[in-house]
Amino acid sequence: MGVRSQRSGDVFNPSTGQVIARVPFCDARETGEVVEAAAAALPAWAETPVVERVRVMFRFRELMHEHFEELASLVTREHGKTLAEARAEVNRGVEVAEFACGIPSLITGEILPNIALDVDAEAVRHSVGACVGITPYNFPSMVPLWMVPIAITCGNTFVLKPSEKVPLSAVRTGELLMEAGLPAGVFNIVHGDRECVDALLDHPKVAAVSFVGSTAIAKHIYERGTAAGKRVQAAGGAKNHLIIMPDAEMDQTVKALVASAYGCAGQRCMAGSVAVAVGKAGDAVVEGLVNLAGGMRVGPSDGNEEVDMGPVIRAEHRDRVATYLDIAKQDGATVALDGRRDFQSNGFLIGPSVVDRVAPSMRVYKEEIFGPVLSIVRVADLDEALAIGAQCEYGNGASIFTQNGYAAREFSRRYSAGMIGINVGVPAPMAWFPFTGWNRSFFGDLHIQGKEGIQFYTRQKVTLTRWPKSDDSHLDPVWRQSK
Ligand code: NAD
Repeated sequence: MGVRSQRSGDVFNPSTGQVIARVPFCDARETGEVVEAAAAALPAWAETPVVERVRVMFRFRELMHEHFEELASLVTREHGKTLAEARAEVNRGVEVAEFACGIPSLITGEILPNIALDVDAEAVRHSVGACVGITPYNFPSMVPLWMVPIAITCGNTFVLKPSEKVPLSAVRTGELLMEAGLPAGVFNIVHGDRECVDALLDHPKVAAVSFVGSTAIAKHIYERGTAAGKRVQAAGGAKNHLIIMPDAEMDQTVKALVASAYGCAGQRCMAGSVAVAVGKAGDAVVEGLVNLAGGMRVGPSDGNEEVDMGPVIRAEHRDRVATYLDIAKQDGATVALDGRRDFQSNGFLIGPSVVDRVAPSMRVYKEEIFGPVLSIVRVADLDEALAIGAQCEYGNGASIFTQNGYAAREFSRRYSAGMIGINVGVPAPMAWFPFTGWNRSFFGDLHIQGKEGIQFYTRQKVTLTRWPKSDDSHLDPVWRQSK
């Protein structure tokens, strides 16, 4: 479909600061036309046997492998994460396609013969219709793939609205799906901002909406989508706490904290952003972090594998992240490692920062910075660490580092977050498990990915069947008085 949009946005290469593409912003009318195309493709696709739908997914999975390096390079180019991080991201997406290849075994129904005299009951799963996915900038390839393979293999059609900051990986995903043999109209892309998103939320032919992004927008999507009668799953922001007990194995723990806080330049919804150091762990954690993070090679990541951390997404975002270091100082915290320096580059670079002696009242603690800044809160014991976590409005992930099974068990049972790590810095579930954010990190019921993803993209139908033998067929056996 030709694009008539008047408005558009720039796509940058964060490593160089250069504009590498322009993305058209669809208006409400164009967006509606794309939804109509998805709705028109629905009946034939929903009727296509699931084993045939799965064959498309097998081919797509093979194509992703064939184009693996190209896909990873594209992620690095439009997002800025290192090539190693981009490869890991693409791999996580491939795994969702692999999970979707098992869907025939996962959506089989249930049957109870003779639930009443001569009556059989069966429950089967049907697709829900034309589905929508609205995705954030921080995982240009993986987050769309949390949704698309499961939705379409379950027999739905799909409209993806990728982040306008990183639309290129989504477009490449679409091309590979077409090459894999997906019929026209089953997978569609619209580009745009709020106007396009609101048109999707209001369109009567959209049955379900999956959203991943910041909490304020997730709440808006959930409220507007459900008000329009759609099923909605909306994953929001995070402030993930990493609790370090005094008995933690300190070298391994510091490495895990660095990977968690500074991987993808801190732009992960599962990034550790608050380290809660218990007792004597405090000094060791801060010293270890300053040494290890201070030695990270920060630089342009596009075409350069010799860096540990690439740029952040935009110049304004880098400046916003930097502002938090000043705010933290004004609020009385200590900046133990300051990531601001002259990198002699036009890329959107900022190094890792460690902010010590942070209190839960400070903005640097409360607000999602979404950059390479790790706050250290020092506490006396595990109870105090748990109490701090309990007041956090988010509930995506949380981890504990300890060699004590009791502390690990207490933490796992009592901490109010949906994804828990025990000596694991980024406890992000893989394709076979749902991405179970709690509190204001998620709005909805069924989470994205895994079996909950299949439940979200299907609805059950229960059929009661009776084939009467004799002429007593006028009796309704389900309601007949049992003797
Ligand atoms: P964002 O909320 O700004 O944007 C997400 C999507 O919403 C984009 O497609 C964007 O175009 C659209 N959007 C933005 N403003 C909108 C508006 N006013 N109305 C309608 N749509 C709008 O998020 P982002 O900056 O792209 O991504 C970072 C955020 O995503 C962080 O908060 C991060 O924690 C979160 N995130 C959460 C998860 C999770 O699983 N919980 C995963 C990845 C990212």
